[in-house]
Amino acid sequence: MKIGVYPGSFDPVTFGHIDVIRRASKMFDEIIVLVMYNSAKSSPLFSKDERVKMIIEATKDLDNVIVESFDGLTIDYCKSKDIHIIVRGLRAITDFEYELQIAQTNKELSHGNVDTVFLTTSIKYSYLSSSTVREIASYNGDIYPCVPDFVAKAVYEKYGFNHEKQGDQG
Ligand code: ADP
Repeated sequence: MKIGVYPGSFDPVTFGHIDVIRRASKMFDEIIVLVMYNSAKSSPLFSKDERVKMIIEATKDLDNVIVESFDGLTIDYCKSKDIHIIVRGLRAITDFEYELQIAQTNKELSHGNVDTVFLTTSIKYSYLSSSTVREIASYNGDIYPCVPDFVAKAVYEKYGFNHEKQGDQG
C-alpha cells in the first residue's frame, strides 16, 4: 500500500492545506495528515486535539485520509509506521529554501529511506497561510474566503469575536 504522510502545524487548517490533502489523496492509497508542533513558530492558537478535529471535519468526505498528531521528528513517525514518503506543499519561491532544507535533512536522518514529494499550490491559494489567517482574524477581518466556515468560527472565538459570514445575516 502506498502511504504518504503530510506533516504540518495546521494552526488552523486552510483551504491551501485542504487542496494539498485532496490532491495527495488521489495519488496515494492512504494519506496521513500529521499534526505537529513547530518549535520555530510561536505558541499555537489551537491545541493539537482541536487541530486534529478540525482537519477530520474538513476532510470527512475523503475516506483514505487519516489524521493523527505526533510529538517528535517526522522521520521517527515514518520509521515507526514503515512509511517512506512525506508530502509537503510549496506556495512560492520563499517556501523553497526552507522546504528543501527540511527535505534534505529528513533524507539524511532516515539514511535515504524517506523521500519528500512536493505539491505546488493551486494559484488561488498561493497567498494563504495559517499565520495570515490568524493575523486577519485577530483584527476581526474576513477569513471566510481562507478556511471552512466552522474553522473561521472557531478562530474568531479564540479572539473573542462573533463574526458571521457576509450574506449569512438575515
Ligand atoms: P509547518 O509549520 O510545518 O510549516 P504549516 O501548517 O504551515 O506547517 O504547513 C504545512 C505544509 O503545507 C507546508 O509544506 C506548507 O508549505 C504547506 N502549505 C501551507 N499553506 C499552503 C497553501 N496555501 N498551499 C499549498 N501548500 C501550503
